[in-house]
Amino acid sequence: MNAKKRIVPLLILQLEALLRRLSHLHPKRKQIEDDLSMMWSGYNGELLLDYDLRFLPYRSYQILHDVRLQVFGKCFQIDTLVLSPYAAFIIEAKNYAGTIVFDEESETFIQLVRGKKKTMKDPLIQVTRQQKQLEEWLRHNAGIHGYPVIPMVAICNPSTIVTPPKNHSQTWPIMNSIHTVDQIQQNNELYKNRKPVDIELIKNKIILADTPLEQDLLKKYSINPSDVKLGVQCPECGHLHMTYIRRRWDCSECGHRSSVAHIKALADYFLLFKNTITNRECRILLGCSERLAYHFLSKLGLRNSGKTSGRKYYAPENVRDFLSYVESSK
Ligand SMILES: [Zn+2]
Repeated sequence: MNAKKRIVPLLILQLEALLRRLSHLHPKRKQIEDDLSMMWSGYNGELLLDYDLRFLPYRSYQILHDVRLQVFGKCFQIDTLVLSPYAAFIIEAKNYAGTIVFDEESETFIQLVRGKKKTMKDPLIQVTRQQKQLEEWLRHNAGIHGYPVIPMVAICNPSTIVTPPKNHSQTWPIMNSIHTVDQIQQNNELYKNRKPVDIELIKNKIILADTPLEQDLLKKYSINPSDVKLGVQCPECGHLHMTYIRRRWDCSECGHRSSVAHIKALADYFLLFKNTITNRECRILLGCSERLAYHFLSKLGLRNSGKTSGRKYYAPENVRDFLSYVESSK
């Protein structure tokens, strides 16, 4: 049923790589730390939603995570998309605390936390925009017309209370995450008299068109590349200048020795700079000899092109494999 699984977003890996290599006194550090913490909070909320979605009957639904599509030159990202033969459901996970109330008089959302009342930004705005974009995308890319796309907001904090307006329809689109499956099924029932669509076809078209966002973080935060510290980082204490002695990277700070620490440095390079590296760039990054750089790059089996000093080695298909390999070899 999980047609496209959720994985830690590339942006989180990039932000973590940047923080590993930026001075603790760097003026942009606080902003990057805040952005990273927000990204983790969002991701964890999505994981909680995934947990609740396990209860959907797997034969009748397809779930796609982190889908990024383009319509009329504009990209849009959907964190969770559930497909049934009768309707699609776009679900936005939110980590709101307290009580969420829709005030009918002012037509605004109010959040009550520890006795304090504040007006909220309408949580449906974003997901409703995505609904329109997906409908448009389906029309132009899959020739599918009139397939209902339902926007929903799932509040992932289990202690948060959601109070719908008094005369709301049964399918109020904001709910605690635990009620998401019921809500999807109730909505689905409403459309069962329609002609079913081929969700395998839609799923395959979406997966084919999905283009994950690749961001140049240094540009985004206006960080001078020379502010990014180079070197091989100690997996134990974080010291950034390990030296290669007797076939191991050696940490002068804590004495830790590692045979794979350079792989994480290469992953950081690909995450932060570009998706190719030459022997010279590798030497500067790792602080090692030409012969050693050749040895490391060849041993990793990276695809390469060009000859002698112009040879470029390409980033692996999935840089996550590099990071997890180093983690598992600690
Ligand atoms: Zn160390």
